[in-house]
Formats: sequence, structure tokens, C-alpha cells
Amino acid sequence: MRLFSALVVVILQAASVLASTCLQQQLGDSLSFPDDTTYNATVSSFWSIQESTLRPACVLRPATVLEVSKALEILSDSVECEFAIKGRGHAPAAGFANVNGGVAIDLTALSSVSLSQDSSMASVGAGAKWLDVYQHLDGSGVQVAGGRNGNVGVGGLLLGGGISHFTTKVGWGCDNVVNYEVVLANGTIINADKTNHPDMFLALKGGGNNLGVVTRFDLATFPQGNISTTTITYSISQSAEVFEAFTKLIESSNYDPLASLITSLLYLSATKTWRLSSSAVYTEPVTQPAFYDELFAIPHESLVNNIISLAEYADEKDTFSFNWLFATTTLKPSAENMQKMFDTLNSTIYSFNPEGGVTWSIALEPLVAAMLPDSGDRDILGLERACPGFIVLISALWPNSTANSEVEAKARSVLSAWEADAESKGLLQDFQYLNYAAPHQRPLHSYGKDKLGFLKLTSEKYDSARILQKDVGGFKL
Ligand SMILES: Cc1cc2nc3c(=O)[nH]c(=O)nc-3n(C[C@H](O)[C@H](O)[C@H](O)COP(=O)(O)OP(=O)(O)OC[C@H]3O[C@@H](n4cnc5c(N)ncnc54)[C@H](O)[C@@H]3O)c2cc1C
Repeated sequence: MRLFSALVVVILQAASVLASTCLQQQLGDSLSFPDDTTYNATVSSFWSIQESTLRPACVLRPATVLEVSKALEILSDSVECEFAIKGRGHAPAAGFANVNGGVAIDLTALSSVSLSQDSSMASVGAGAKWLDVYQHLDGSGVQVAGGRNGNVGVGGLLLGGGISHFTTKVGWGCDNVVNYEVVLANGTIINADKTNHPDMFLALKGGGNNLGVVTRFDLATFPQGNISTTTITYSISQSAEVFEAFTKLIESSNYDPLASLITSLLYLSATKTWRLSSSAVYTEPVTQPAFYDELFAIPHESLVNNIISLAEYADEKDTFSFNWLFATTTLKPSAENMQKMFDTLNSTIYSFNPEGGVTWSIALEPLVAAMLPDSGDRDILGLERACPGFIVLISALWPNSTANSEVEAKARSVLSAWEADAESKGLLQDFQYLNYAAPHQRPLHSYGKDKLGFLKLTSEKYDSARILQKDVGGFKL
């Protein structure tokens, strides 16, 4: 058995060497190898230590769609050469956008942004980050629905769904893509929109990296000026009132389409301290919008309001050099259950303090009517079966890599306790948001059998050799 595994490793290494030789002959200028400056720049640009620790045999930074096409033609002809597709490297799990020994395709050079003459559409290179887009559109009177943190990649966010400050108004980020330029696994370049390759068009709206390498997204714009941002921090002793107010908001039959809310719990294991806060954004320049009155009325430690542009607000500092973990679940509203979740969380992680500490963050994000389509042709997320509630993102960051498996085990045990409890009360929803999911979760399966079946059929049609299923990491079909 050991001999067989060793043989497989040797064959895979030989495949990478062969593929890199071919890539070097045809795309030499865009290829870099260990210790080259460009190689190091790519490998160190991943957001999590887990991703930046992997060592690809070479990094390809294509400068044009034709180079992406040539690369995929070569890679699909090579026998089992693993490769990775990297946008801005913000998926935390190892192997999702990087690879050990194979070829990492770093799309960051494809980051141009342009606005159509009539301002109705922005064309964005798939390697751009959201700040590039917001800054380009700043002052034009229009914006697009993208990531709230400007360092996040356009590619990964839109292919997994995309929650923006405008989700309550225009739905998921992917719902606002009007055309995709895609390179198929065999190197063919196509454009997918409502009339050309409509199956591919739909499958890309939540299908992740399973359909092709997207090189350009054309996004519908909408009129947008400055926004209002309010950060409120509370003592953890106010948790019951905050959960009550949050629940009332998401249960309200007329959720304000201009509201964008995240309520978060933060725990620092080193000091055993909890923090509770709400980020209450309003996408018009209104100081203290009335919609959030119940949250503002709860006694708080601080409340800071700013009226600023989207570009300014998204211009955050990245937090490198940490291990990171994401995991998710989706629940129906219940303040009582939220308090129970907090108690379960507290009892599981309170005394867990590996060397270097862990910072836990639990973000609670409303899943409101605008995110739930009436029919299944808007995206592939399967949310026509869901009901209003909230999406939970558990994230953890810690410096000490020897604690990885322990932190992951803690997160898993919190998640399974929450889900078992919610299920018994009829509060658990099927949906697992792909961009927040842990590697052990099955977000594509959470869309439902029909959606998964459609994704599989579309993948077979456009990638009959199953290259993207066998040779590329991430959530697979
Ligand atoms: C600090 C932070 C803030 C975040 N904020 C938000 C938020 O506001 N809203 C939200 O919805 N999510 C948010 N997320 C989650 C985010 O959407 C995902 O982490 C997303 O995967 C990041 O995309 P990326 O291109 O940076 O990542 P990468 O790690 O480069 O890519 C993620 C996945 O997408 C694939 N991929 C990327 N580009 C392409 C492409 N062009 N073609 C084919 N496959 C591709 C990769 O292969 C990989 O599997 C946030 C994450 C972080 C770390």
C-alpha cells in the first residue's frame, strides 16, 4: 500500500513537471517558480496561514484570457496534474485556492474595471478585489453589489453567492451578474448570459469553481451615493435584549431594503472576554435610521455613526499571519434559541485557551425576503425552499498552527450542538452558505437534490473529462 502511494506521488510530481515544462514553453513570461519574487508574492498573499503554507510547483499569473485558455488546454491534456484557481485568496481552508506540488493559477493580474457608457453595467476582471471596483465607480453615481470588505476577491465571492450591503435591495451578488466570460476546462472561451449558454449562466450563480475559470464578470449597476454606517457595542450582559431586537427586525414583514445588519459576538480566549456589537449599515446617508431604533435603544457602551462612501467603508486592513476557520449554518428566527446558542458556545469554548489564544467571532446575518427568490431561475442556491431567518458565520483566528485540529474540533462540536438543538425545535434550515462553509460541510448539496443534479449535468456537459472535479480543490459536486 505504501509503495502504491509513493508511486502515485511520483506520477503526480512527474505530471506537474511535464505540465510546467509545457506551460513554460508557451507561457514562460507569466510563470514563476519557488523563490522567484512573483511566486513568493502569490504564496504569501493568501489570507490564512493554512493556504499560504502550501507550496505549488509553479505559479501562473495570466495577463489575458487567452493565457488562461492556453493554460487550461495544457493542464487538461496532462495526466492528473492538480491545479488551483486563485482570486484574492480569502477562502481560509487549505487547498481551496492553492495546491501542494501542482500549478497555482493566480488571476490577480486580470483586475481591470470599466463602466459602460450608459453606466448600467460594470465589467470586472475576475482577479480584482472589491475595493478596486468601488474605487473605480466612486463618484460615478452608481455602484454594484459586492463584498463588504474591500480586500475580498470578486471571483470567489460571486461564484459562491455574495452577501453585500445591498442584498436586501437587489438580492445576492451573483443575482446581479448579467454575463460571465468563462474559460472551460479544455481551454474554450465562452460568454454565458441569459440567452447564450443559459445553463452555464445559472450554474455559475452559486456553483463555485466547478464549471470553469471565470475571467470577467459583467455586473448590473444601480444608483448609489454615500451610505450611513453605525457601529454599536454593548456589554455582553445585554445579549438577551440584543437577540430580541435582532429577531424582531428579521421577523418584521417589511424589512427595510436599505438596511444591512450584522450582529456579532466576539470572544478572546486569552482574556476570557466577550464583546457584543451590531454593524448597522443603511445604504442612504441617514444618520441613525429609524429602522434600527430598537437596537439603538438598548443601553450600549458606544455608538459611532459615519456618513461615507462605499469605497471608504470597504477600505479595511487585512489580517494576515493567522490560521483561520469558517463554518456556517442557517436558522429560523428565535431570540430564545439565540440565547441558548450563546450558552452552548460559552460552555464549549470558555476554558479553551491554546498557546497564543484564539479569537472567536460569531456573525449573525439576516436572511431576508429579497434573498429568497420566488422561483428557481435567479440563481442555483435553492433558497426558494427557505424562509426568512439568519445565516451564522462562525470564524476563528489563532496564531499557533499546532492548535489547528483542536480549534477545528471545537468549532465542529459547537456547530453540531447548535444544529441538533435547532433541528429538534424545527429551527434548522438546509442552506449552508458556500463562502462561509467549513471543508467538512456540503454547501452544494444543501441547495437541494434538483439543484445539485442540475449542477452535475452542467458540469458533465462543459467538462466531460471531469478535470475541475478531479484536479481542482474546493467544494466539489
Ligand atoms: C475578511 C473577509 C470578509 C468577507 N466578507 C464577505 C462578505 O461581505 N460577503 C460575502 O458574501 N462573503 C464574504 N467573505 C467570504 C468570501 O466571499 C469568500 O472567502 C470568497 O471565497 C473569497 O473570494 P476570493 O476570490 O478572495 O478567494 P479565493 O480563495 O481566491 O477563491 C475562493 C474560491 O473561489 C474559486 N475562484 C476564485 N476565483 C475564481 C474564478 N475566477 N473562477 C473560478 N473559480 C474561482 C477558488 O478556486 C476558490 O475555491 C469574506 C471573507 C473574508 C476572509
